[in-house]
Amino acid sequence: MNFIYKIFCKLDYHFKTSLIEVTMGFGPSGKIERVQCDICKKVYIRNNRTLKFSQPVLIIIVIIFLILLFII
Ligand SMILES: [Zn+2]
Repeated sequence: MNFIYKIFCKLDYHFKTSLIEVTMGFGPSGKIERVQCDICKKVYIRNNRTLKFSQPVLIIIVIIFLILLFII
């Protein structure tokens, strides 16, 4: 199953992440979390607002991927 994670890493979606630090931002940005991907070791900033938006999209992509795997 690890190759699927690597495909998503290339698409800039990182599933297995570990939290490095949390910064309290000012204004509309809110809480900013700096996380590192366990698979590709990329460090990036995760905003809670963007996470809430991307979560349903990710689930749909995963479902499509699983369907494709069953067809192949
Ligand atoms: Zn990654």
